[in-house]
Amino acid sequence: MPSLTRVEATARGATITVESYQVDIDLTGGGDLFRSRVEIRFRATPGAATFAEIKPHTLLGVRLNDRDLDPGVLADNRLPLSDLEADNTLVVEAEMAYSNTGEGMHRFVDPADGETYLYAVTFLDNVQRIFAAFDQPDLKASFVLAVTAPPEWTVVGNAELTANPAPGRWEFAPTAPLATYFFSLIAGPYHVRQAEHDGVPLGIYCRRSLAEHLDADAEEIFTVTRQCLDRFHELFTERYPFGKYDQAFVPEFNAGAMENPGIVTFRDDYVFRSAVTDTQRELRATTIAHEMAHMWFGDLVTMRWWDDLWLNESFAEYLGTRVTAEATRFDQAWTTFAMRRKAWGYAADQRPSTHPVAPEEVADAEEGLLNFDGISYAKGASVLRQLVAWLGDEAFLAGLNAHFAAHRFGNATLADLLASLSTASARSELASPAVASNDG
Ligand SMILES: [Zn+2]
Repeated sequence: MPSLTRVEATARGATITVESYQVDIDLTGGGDLFRSRVEIRFRATPGAATFAEIKPHTLLGVRLNDRDLDPGVLADNRLPLSDLEADNTLVVEAEMAYSNTGEGMHRFVDPADGETYLYAVTFLDNVQRIFAAFDQPDLKASFVLAVTAPPEWTVVGNAELTANPAPGRWEFAPTAPLATYFFSLIAGPYHVRQAEHDGVPLGIYCRRSLAEHLDADAEEIFTVTRQCLDRFHELFTERYPFGKYDQAFVPEFNAGAMENPGIVTFRDDYVFRSAVTDTQRELRATTIAHEMAHMWFGDLVTMRWWDDLWLNESFAEYLGTRVTAEATRFDQAWTTFAMRRKAWGYAADQRPSTHPVAPEEVADAEEGLLNFDGISYAKGASVLRQLVAWLGDEAFLAGLNAHFAAHRFGNATLADLLASLSTASARSELASPAVASNDG
């Protein structure tokens, strides 16, 4: 399967504008497959050609405007689309495979009670394992999700649930414009605890067999969530932009957590099943704060391409540690950062495989994860912390808020951020190429 190149993404971004995805997913099939139907509305240069991506088990049907396309035209994961009109509708129906690798629609059967749990992982280019999409970070669009699933399940998406028109049917509100890699949902007999803070509905979820352990820590998790939300609202002009804030602790998760707007997923090792140290509680709090920081830096304003993935992570690392230290009882979070996270960065830096914090070039999506390590997270966060000290906090926050306002629900680059910080701080050397191109 070819990985999308930067050149291809730039060309496609110049050819089309995506308006909306109407996604309908049927999870009732049993076995190893589920079914998806997507209706994508997009504008294009009339007469132009482009492609969408999908990795189906079986492609059932493709319709572009008033033409049925032969599903046989799918080449690897690419669906060629030609003779585009100014306004287009693409409908793709497919049978898709569940995954057990944490890519696409992950399916887990709990050995404790035999219950089935699903969650969607679309980072970095895995939305195409669930439905057809123009899968690149700067083609943002609103997603409207509907799900058919066993009636006794709980289904949660990025946006608020608007209707249960029949048992086993869930319909969700349109999301704010999202990058394709932020689409997510969870489905299964999940255990839930709900709360509310400052007008934001809060939910935490885990599989049923962990319910007593989540319940035991629910107050702590909600308290950290509330404190961080308040602190971000003090620091940022823009309020939390995605409506509700759900946090799901899911099984067999590959990373620590993922910042899907409105439905953050965490590995369920964060639901402690035995006595743990306070450091482990602090690390959980820092992860909660890190993912919440992404709601602004990453989700509201998203990198244009994967070359800024380090900036995305370094920023969440910096802001997450800062807000944990400033707003929660874990006021030593920077000490822990210095002892653990920075040590991770130093170790990576001492190897022959060391690399600049900001990569020179990321030629395709897969390359975005090459050299993605303690340098990208911890050294990057240390560099940002130094930058804040140099700029002064007031100028930094003014620049950051201007950056959010200028690019909200859109995309931006490192150069865009430096330009905002430069204007706010009147430090012109920030916007010069010598600083923008990082040499280590
Ligand atoms: Zn992150």
